[in-house]
Amino acid sequence: MPFTFLQHMADTRSEIAQLGEFGLINKIKHNVSLRNASSLVGIGDDAAVIDAGNDCVLLSTDILLEGIHFDLSYMPLQHLGYKAVAVNVSDIAAMNGTPEQITIGLGLSNRFSVEAVELLYEGIRAACENYNVDLVGGDTTASSSGLVLAISVIGRAKRERISYRNGAKVNDIICVTGDLGGAYMGLQVLVREKKVFIDNPAAQPDLENHEYVVGRQLKPEARMDIIHELADLNIVPTSMIDISDGLASEVLHLSKASNVGIKLFEDKIPIDNNTFDTALEFKLDPIVIAMNGGEDYELLFTINQLDFEKVKNHPDIHFIGHTHENSTQNILISKAGTIVPIQAQGWKHF
Ligand code: ADP
Ligand code: MG
Repeated sequence: MPFTFLQHMADTRSEIAQLGEFGLINKIKHNVSLRNASSLVGIGDDAAVIDAGNDCVLLSTDILLEGIHFDLSYMPLQHLGYKAVAVNVSDIAAMNGTPEQITIGLGLSNRFSVEAVELLYEGIRAACENYNVDLVGGDTTASSSGLVLAISVIGRAKRERISYRNGAKVNDIICVTGDLGGAYMGLQVLVREKKVFIDNPAAQPDLENHEYVVGRQLKPEARMDIIHELADLNIVPTSMIDISDGLASEVLHLSKASNVGIKLFEDKIPIDNNTFDTALEFKLDPIVIAMNGGEDYELLFTINQLDFEKVKNHPDIHFIGHTHENSTQNILISKAGTIVPIQAQGWKHF
């Protein structure tokens, strides 16, 4: 019997912006069931987990759209190619896995030349080399709305070494790698310089003193280095997520998935001096930028206290707080000692 769709579009119309990205994904998730025994974990983490015999295969997709995620007037094509791969690899890192293959869906408007595509792939190849990933396929199509890059990545991990968003326990230590807010401030600098250029095409972009933050925006790295070091130290984070949307948003994901409360200390949140100064120059509060600026692609994870000794002197892992019992209490203790509830900013794309 042919398949018939019983449900028709309802007469009511709900705005996606009202539901938000995560509300929408939840709605999709609740109407999806997993049929194959090999589909161990589906929607809801940084990557899906698939049973593959001895190991698990990890699978994740990320889209980058021109005009939404990047602006070609300040994003060189090589950097874009590199970043598109890095952000996908980051989701495999966030599961404590190792990336192995990618496929690339490419939508091209007629503005693009063969040479432009070659530049894009130069960046893609550089990232594949750096992360030891093979480009094994994809799809190419015309696009009426600018450049589209949809990448899927496949990774691998031992089942017992996978870190999920839902594994944090009470009194775990909350760790973050690198420093936060730089990518957001880099974007602000690039947007400002673009405006100057539009007003006066003869003007040279003034990126002096802002190389660090601009680099954070244009050249993010997935933290595979940390994943390898944690493996060497025999540490499996009890939970992990990568910071694509901002620390506040990711902390709330861990809290909700793990059913634990999060307590962070403002003076422990890592902010580079350059990010700090640039924020002040833009009359923004550096801690607000570190909490809510996205695209840093650092790792946020929790460890059991017993593992603290092994990482306590690591130069690039920062201990920013701990988990506690009350999952409704997600708070930041300010430098002055006041309690600030952690709230996710609204979703930017809709
Ligand atoms: P990340 O920021 O780590 O890439 P997302 O917030 O984009 O994660 O996605 C969260 C979860 O929802 C992931 O498991 C992802 O695979 C899933 N997801 C996102 N969009 C869709 C969609 N349109 N259909 C099905 N699953 C989706
Ligand atoms: Mg992620």
